[in-house]
Amino acid sequence: MAKPERIDALVLGSGEGGKYLAWHLARSGQRAVVVERRWIGGSCPNINCLPSKNEIWSAKVADLARRAGNFGAMTGPVTIDMAKVRQRKRDMVDGLIAMHLQNYKDSGAELIMGSGRFVAPKTIEVQLNEGGTRLLAGEQVFLNVGTSPAIPDVPGLAAAQPLTNIEALDLDYPPSHLIVLGGGYVGLELAQAYRRFGSRVTIVEYGPQLAGREDADVAEEIRRILGDDGIDILVSAKTLRVEGQSGQRVVLRVLTASGERTIEGSDILVAAGRRPNTAGIGLDIAGVALDDRGYIKVNERLETSTSSTWAIGECAGSPPVHPCVARRFPHHPRQSRRTRAHHTRALGSVLHVHGPTTRAGRAERSRGATPGRPGACGEDTDKRRVADANDRREERLHEGARRCG
Ligand SMILES: Cc1cc2nc3c(=O)[nH]c(=O)nc-3n(C[C@H](O)[C@H](O)[C@H](O)COP(=O)(O)OP(=O)(O)OC[C@H]3O[C@@H](n4cnc5c(N)ncnc54)[C@H](O)[C@@H]3O)c2cc1C
Repeated sequence: MAKPERIDALVLGSGEGGKYLAWHLARSGQRAVVVERRWIGGSCPNINCLPSKNEIWSAKVADLARRAGNFGAMTGPVTIDMAKVRQRKRDMVDGLIAMHLQNYKDSGAELIMGSGRFVAPKTIEVQLNEGGTRLLAGEQVFLNVGTSPAIPDVPGLAAAQPLTNIEALDLDYPPSHLIVLGGGYVGLELAQAYRRFGSRVTIVEYGPQLAGREDADVAEEIRRILGDDGIDILVSAKTLRVEGQSGQRVVLRVLTASGERTIEGSDILVAAGRRPNTAGIGLDIAGVALDDRGYIKVNERLETSTSSTWAIGECAGSPPVHPCVARRFPHHPRQSRRTRAHHTRALGSVLHVHGPTTRAGRAERSRGATPGRPGACGEDTDKRRVADANDRREERLHEGARRCG
């Protein structure tokens, strides 16, 4: 093996967490290097959070413009220019990438564009995007490789070349009928956005309710909001097979409680969970243990099974919420020694369907509370606000908001 370059802090993947860590450590005088294969700054600014919120905002404007007359603002017919929607998003992403590159420059952290894999513990070989390789040995190593959309093993689905959130957020046309496989937060947000861009939309959810991690009353409210928008929703619906090509014509055979049915659409979006980017990067060689779902095993200080090697973010099973990914690791500048363990704080979440569904703390179902009964004060304050989709009714404050009050 060639002699590796010695690095103080070596970060694989430039997502939430890894990039801030590298900038911080570089500023404090360490040689910090981040290896990234494609997305400068990770998924959040390129393909996930910010692009989705950007297009959701365009969709919200379209919706408001259509209903402007209700507010006394008279407009003409509303048409959607998806190429313009996409360009607005692309301009935002370009700006964010420039900002990230400036942060690398200012901090002194080095960004290497290429795919990394372990060839020995704490030693990574990088296949450079521009050609050639570099061999890097880290004194401390941080894994921040993230997750990718999972494609369920349904006959014909992969062959139909379905959209994932990446392609769905880069379309220059509104599908005439978008079928969304999966009623989690990604599917719900994009379903409502495309409905507001003018697509007919059908959500097919395998589980018994939308937003499976939420309590039943919240899920029901979300279903009502989306139903009011004109979205067709199937729950407890198992997709048996898919035929055709997304972008042209797709036909789904679906098993529901009332029997089998066929759904025909123009495009299919898969939003049915995530898989960790941990395969094929030599984690076995590095001595980094995985759990049975392929996520990196970490303790409460995010240490892996190998010395001086940590894992950050979704690849280590953190919830898919970028601020917690960014701040829940021992070296983050905002972590004091006292608060270094990463499981100790209540997490909130926001589902960006309009109106936004916001929760602070865990859902009642995940902490064993009886719905509608006061939860344990001082543990997680469980506040939810479900605002009405179309500003037609009052914002609703659910009983969770009164709890502990
Ligand atoms: C559509 C969508 C919308 C979302 N919206 C929100 C939101 O509004 N708010 C919110 O808080 N969260 C949101 N999330 C979740 C959020 O995006 C993720 O939780 C967060 O970005 C995960 O960060 P991470 O650091 O774990 O991984 P990532 O940001 O994915 O970073 C991992 C990086 O590692 C790179 N990489 C992987 N393997 C290698 C390798 N071998 N070599 C080199 N590089 C590699 C990848 O290219 C990637 O850039 C959304 C997710 C989706 C899918």
